[in-house]
Amino acid sequence: MRYFIPIDKSSIKRNERAGESHSFVAFPTEKIVHKDGSVEIIRELMEIRHLPIPEWYYNYIPIMVECSECHEKFLNTNLLSDEDSDGCYSGTICPFCGEWGCCDIEFEDIYKVIEKGKY
Ligand SMILES: [Zn+2]
Repeated sequence: MRYFIPIDKSSIKRNERAGESHSFVAFPTEKIVHKDGSVEIIRELMEIRHLPIPEWYYNYIPIMVECSECHEKFLNTNLLSDEDSDGCYSGTICPFCGEWGCCDIEFEDIYKVIEKGKY
């Protein structure tokens, strides 16, 4: 059976930093234990590189799906994923019976949603 996973429209937010591929994180470099027992952590800002930040942040609404093999019903967020030794991948493995491709899911396309609404 084919399921459509909708985007939670209230969760859509444009990312002001879209496209940026570096950020700063506070990295602990030193731990000082004072005589009174208090602990002080010295942090240094470190620049990290990463994949470009996506333009939109959003969440999907979990829906109930049914396994085509064992007919158990569960939220799509409980589907398992795995890759076999031949490099075949499945993101729709039943958490109950382990059937690969236990249902067919389609995630709503963020760009189609953006076209229709004002975000
Ligand atoms: Zn199953």
